[in-house]
Amino acid sequence: MPIYEYECLSCKHRFEKVMKVGDPAPPCPVCGATQTKKMVTPFRTNAWANFLDTMEKRVSPEKFK
Ligand SMILES: [Zn+2]
Repeated sequence: MPIYEYECLSCKHRFEKVMKVGDPAPPCPVCGATQTKKMVTPFRTNAWANFLDTMEKRVSPEKFK
């Protein structure tokens, strides 16, 4: 599932959320505002980076010895 980054239009808090296709924009976890904007800039979360590392280890384990 894709991970999206959102920015709250009310308090400018940024947060990441795993979203299914077609899900409505999530409310801000800080102030509860429903006006949030999906960020289009590329980013990596720790979870996502770990996932990519795991896949990389599977494909080319010699890099991690
Ligand atoms: Zn907010």
